[in-house]
Amino acid sequence: MQTSSSARADLRVVTNQAPPLTGHNVVTADTALTEGVLRHGTQETLDSIVGLGAEAGSAEAREHGQLANEHHPELVPYDRYGHRIDEVAFHPSWHWLMERAVGHGLAATPWEEQAEGAQHAHLRRAAGFMAWSHTEPGHGCPISMTYAAVPALRADEAIAKEWTPLLASRRYDPGVRNPSEKLGALAGMGMTEKQGGSDVRANVTRAQPSGGLDGTYTLHGHKWFTSAPMNDVFLVLAQTDGGVTCFVVPRVLPDGTRNQLDVVRLKDKLGNRSNASSELEMDGTVAVRLGDEGRGVRTIIEMVAATRLDCVLGSASLMRRAVSEASWHVTHRSAFGSRLVDKPLMQNVVADLAVESEAATALALRLASAVDGLADPHEAALRRIALPLAKFWVCKRTPMMVAEALECLGGNGYVEESVMPLLYREAPLNSVWEGSGNVNALDVLRALGREPEVLDAWITEVGRARGGDARLDRAIEDTLALIGSLMGEPEAMERGARRLASRMAAVLQGSLLVRFAPPEVADIFCASRLSPSYDGVLGALDGGDLRAVVERTTPTLG
Ligand SMILES: Cc1cc2nc3c(=O)[nH]c(=O)nc-3n(C[C@H](O)[C@H](O)[C@H](O)COP(=O)(O)OP(=O)(O)OC[C@H]3O[C@@H](n4cnc5c(N)ncnc54)[C@H](O)[C@@H]3O)c2cc1C
Repeated sequence: MQTSSSARADLRVVTNQAPPLTGHNVVTADTALTEGVLRHGTQETLDSIVGLGAEAGSAEAREHGQLANEHHPELVPYDRYGHRIDEVAFHPSWHWLMERAVGHGLAATPWEEQAEGAQHAHLRRAAGFMAWSHTEPGHGCPISMTYAAVPALRADEAIAKEWTPLLASRRYDPGVRNPSEKLGALAGMGMTEKQGGSDVRANVTRAQPSGGLDGTYTLHGHKWFTSAPMNDVFLVLAQTDGGVTCFVVPRVLPDGTRNQLDVVRLKDKLGNRSNASSELEMDGTVAVRLGDEGRGVRTIIEMVAATRLDCVLGSASLMRRAVSEASWHVTHRSAFGSRLVDKPLMQNVVADLAVESEAATALALRLASAVDGLADPHEAALRRIALPLAKFWVCKRTPMMVAEALECLGGNGYVEESVMPLLYREAPLNSVWEGSGNVNALDVLRALGREPEVLDAWITEVGRARGGDARLDRAIEDTLALIGSLMGEPEAMERGARRLASRMAAVLQGSLLVRFAPPEVADIFCASRLSPSYDGVLGALDGGDLRAVVERTTPTLG
C-alpha cells in the first residue's frame, strides 16, 4: 500500500521532546551559584561574570564544546621536513574555548588581581570557572594548571616575576615560541611516572647540575602522564642528590631553541578527550631549580592544592550542568498523562540531585573564598582540611550523581547529542588525578595528625551553624566521637579514612546549607546525608518540599 504524503508528514511531527537547553545564562540561572557569590563576595563580583554566563550558555559555545570533543587532539611529532617538533594539533573549537577561558581571566589572573588589592579575585575566578566549564570540561585542565602554577612559582621570587605576568595574562597566545615574544603563556605539571603517581618519592627521573654559570640542571627520565604538553612551561619533579626536587621546564629556551621534551604518545582516555594528555621522555632537558634540593614535594604542593580546588570546582560544575539538563528535560517531557516533573517519584530524584549539586556548589565557593582570605589563620587552616575533604567527597559523589541525571533523560540521555555521555565520561576524572580518593582521605588524616589547628578550624566553621538543625548538631557530635575513637589507632584510622572524610565533608556541607540555603534545601540534606542510616541511593528521600527544590534548580531561558 502506498503511503500518502500527508500520512508521511504526520509521521514526522515531533511531539513531547524537550527543546535544547541553550540560550540561557548559566550564571543567573544558577541560584545556588549567584547566592554563593553574593554571600562571599559582592554584587560587583557577580556582575563581573554575568556576561561569561551568557556566553557559556549560548548555542555557539555548546557547539564548540561538542566539536572540541569530537575532533580529538593529534600528536605532530615531526614537521614536514623531518624536524622533531613534538606539537599537538587541536580543532579550532578548542582554541575558541581556550581563548575565551583565558580572556575571562580564568587562568592565573586572580593572583595578580589579588596582589593589586582585589578582595574576591579567587571567588570570582572560581564561580567563572564553574560556569564556563558548562561549555565543556576538558580545556579546563590547562586553565587549572596555569592557575595553580603561580603559588608554587612563588618559591623563587625571580622565577615568579618572570612567569607570573604571562600566566596571569588574559591573552591566549598558543604556539611553541619564545615566551619573551608571547602575550600570554600556559603551564603544566609533570609528577606522575610509570612506577608511581601518588608516591612521587618513587620518581626515577634524575636531575644533574649542568655545570654552567647559569645554574641550570639537565633532566633524564620520563613522565607517564603530563597533560597539555603544548603548554609553555612545566613544573616537574626529579631526583637530585638531595632528594625529590621541583624544576621549571620551559618548552622554548631563552635563546629561542626548543627544549628537548619528546612527546612519546597521547593517552587514549575514557573522557576528557578534547584535552591532550601525554607521555614524555627527557634526555638532556634544560631545567631551572624551583626551591631547595630535596624540597620538591613541599614546593609543588602549592600547585597541587590549587589544582585540587579546581577538581572540586570542576566536579561541582559537572553536577550543575547535569541537574540543569535533567530538570529541564523532566519539565518538558510527559509520560503516563502528566509532566515528568509532576510525578512524585521523579520529583524525589531531581530534588535529591539538586540538593547534591547545591551542597557541592556551596562547599566549592566556600573554599574559593578561603583562598581569598588565606592571610587569616582560620581561613588558612580551614582550607588545609576542607580541601582534601571536598576533593574526596564532591569528586567521589559526581559519577553516581551524573549517572542518575543522565537517566532522567531516559534513552535520550544515552545519546551523544544530549551531552550527558560527555559529562558521564568526565565524571570520574577529578577523583583520580591530583590525589585519588584514598590519597585525599589519607591527607585528611595527615592534616589532623600534624596540624591541630585544622580540627579547630573545622569545629569553628561547622559550629557556626549549631542550633540551626538538631540533626546537624547530632552529626557534629557523632563525627567528633568518630575522630576521638580513631585517633591514636593508626591502622583503624587508615582503614576508616574514607568513613571519616565522608562524615566530616557532609557535616561541613550541611553546616553551610543550614546557614545559607533555603530551609527546604537544608532540610533535605540534613534528613538524608546526615542521617546515620543514609544509604546513598539518590531519589529515596523520605519527605521534604521536593517541588520547591526542583523549581529552584530548574534553569530558565534568558
Ligand atoms: C586525565 C588525566 C590527566 C592527568 N594529568 C596529569 C598531569 O598533567 N601531570 C601529572 O603529573 N599527572 C597527571 N595525571 C596522573 C594522576 O595524577 C595520577 O594518575 C594519580 O595521581 C594517581 O597516580 P597513579 O596513576 O600512579 O596511581 P597509583 O598511585 O598507583 O594509585 C592507584 C590506586 O591506589 C590508591 N593508593 C595509592 N596510595 C595508597 C595508600 N597509601 N593507601 C591506599 N590506597 C592508595 C590510589 O588512591 C589509587 O586508587 C593525570 C591522570 C589522568 C587520568
